[in-house]
Amino acid sequence: MFIFDAHLDLSMNALEWNRDLTRPIQEIRDREKGQTDKPDRGRGTVCLPELRRGNIGLVVATQIARYAKPTHPLGGWHSPAQAWAMTQGQLAWYRVMEEAGEMVQITNAEELEKHLKLWAVDDCPLIRPSGTLAPEGERDGVRGPASLDAPSREPGPASKPIGYILSLEGSDSILTMAHLERSYAQGLRAVGPAHYGPGTYAFGTDSEGSIGRRGRELLQEMDRLKLILDATHLCDTSFREALDVFQGPVWASHSNARTLTPHNRQFSDDQLRELFRRGAVIGAPLDAWMMIPNWERGKTTPEGAQLKLEKMAEHIDYVCQLAGNARHSGIGTDLDGGFGREQCPVDLDTIADLQRLPELLRARGYKFPDIEAILHGNFIRFLREAWK
Ligand SMILES: [Zn+2]
Repeated sequence: MFIFDAHLDLSMNALEWNRDLTRPIQEIRDREKGQTDKPDRGRGTVCLPELRRGNIGLVVATQIARYAKPTHPLGGWHSPAQAWAMTQGQLAWYRVMEEAGEMVQITNAEELEKHLKLWAVDDCPLIRPSGTLAPEGERDGVRGPASLDAPSREPGPASKPIGYILSLEGSDSILTMAHLERSYAQGLRAVGPAHYGPGTYAFGTDSEGSIGRRGRELLQEMDRLKLILDATHLCDTSFREALDVFQGPVWASHSNARTLTPHNRQFSDDQLRELFRRGAVIGAPLDAWMMIPNWERGKTTPEGAQLKLEKMAEHIDYVCQLAGNARHSGIGTDLDGGFGREQCPVDLDTIADLQRLPELLRARGYKFPDIEAILHGNFIRFLREAWK
């Protein structure tokens, strides 16, 4: 089944982890043997060949560079100018991937349809732009018995480019609104104002505060440019204010439910309901500490915690049950977000193993159209509506 992954940090891995993502995963791992500068050395799960093998033909790929004042808890670049330059370097890597035919940037409806055709994606009724809801019988199968078998489809040939929608995770690198406009011209289509800690335009994970004047200015400019707001990483106050100010389309690229994993990084039920009302799709991540409570980085192991992919199905099911339908749930793995096999489900070797998810959802009683919607249809429908 075709898969849409709403959150990967591909260019960060290329530039800051020094990974040649065009190479086979084993080769990338072997090359990192003996390196200890990052916790996930030798344990990466993402590269372009594995995306193709897993039929993950469309992703949201980030630019990411945090600016940190001396008091910032996590650190980052020492000036916004350096952060901007880093994101421009990351863009340069995406451009080279495009020139090599490895990737293709998707910025509008026409490019999206062309790419879906290239990857032979089914146009299931749930993701058609016309009509906001499928007939009752097609969408109420959240708890229903398993029905149609999914048609098996071989992964596409190695030559197909991975489509990517350019997104900015944390907006500190946006020096002025003119830089946001320049980024839009470069293909930027989604923006998350915050990352970890206090940021220039919003407060992020593990911090708390107002978006302030600059945050409002950014969100209004995003509205004007018709950018998508990524609500992931916004702290509770900034979340509330951002959704009040911003009128355009909202998604949460990689977030779980606070009820299952109690932490300010995840969304409360009220926040999730607010996102549903705004038509958002929530991408389910595969970072272990966001999947189960009390994960201790560098201490807890996937084996010890018996963390399996099934847990992702549980998170997806939680979002669907809360929404009362399967229209707001998607995939946003974050699998290359600074961790590897030491911090993801034990039964996942590479990102291609996402192909086991349809079976796990089917075992939970999900019907084929709902599974398709979760694996790719909801985010595709979202983009069609945002870009029409
Ligand atoms: Zn993130």
